[in-house]
Amino acid sequence: MSVLIVDGREIEFEPPATIIEACNKAGVYLPHLCWRPDFSPHGSCRVCTVRANGREVAACITAAEDGMRVENTADDIVEKRKTLLSMLFVEGNHVCPACEKSGNCQLQAVAYYHGVTAPTLTYFYPPRPLDASHPDVVIDLNRCILCELCVRASRQSDGKNVFSIGGRGIDAHLVVNSETGRLGDSELDIDDRAAHICPVGAILPRRGAFQTPIGRRKYDIDPIDVAGDASEGET
Ligand code: SF4
Repeated sequence: MSVLIVDGREIEFEPPATIIEACNKAGVYLPHLCWRPDFSPHGSCRVCTVRANGREVAACITAAEDGMRVENTADDIVEKRKTLLSMLFVEGNHVCPACEKSGNCQLQAVAYYHGVTAPTLTYFYPPRPLDASHPDVVIDLNRCILCELCVRASRQSDGKNVFSIGGRGIDAHLVVNSETGRLGDSELDIDDRAAHICPVGAILPRRGAFQTPIGRRKYDIDPIDVAGDASEGET
């Protein structure tokens, strides 16, 4: 067993493990969006940034080392996370009160956890398409945060390759791998994990809307450090 010191608290872990894996197993919450324990880490959202032995790193792609000192709740780390979260909101078109995922959305929940309850930056209002061509699933790219969880779920769990990311920087966007680029012409099936893993309201199964009223949803009841990641299948 090795030991990690997180905000002064010692936690034991079994190497090899990343910082976020060690913390997750020990019940220490590190805010994150693009990480899930059963998929390869991606390191794209940077919301899990911590300071480890004095260096700022993404906890999901950094190996935990014996005796490593990790700062997760230092004021400057939290401020950086809040800026990252604010940027994610304004880069897309996130209108929480009008979103079916409100109360089950991980972006909204992590923002609330850090006290980000209103926009602090100017919205970009990028033009983003909506694809309603599939009989069972709708994609609203206005809400996509490019976490690539659907990309990894389709490849690593469903054995398909329904999604990928195209473009770079500000032009990066989710691509549906079908001849027409439409979801309805892809291999996606409603039972695929990729259809249910989106942590925000970008991929939404049809016919499940508002079964649980807003106000009684996962993060309406408990904050994300208690409730955990967005449940798959909950819209
Ligand atoms: S559609 Fe959802 S799961 Fe896929 S990249 Fe966008 S935010 Fe992530």
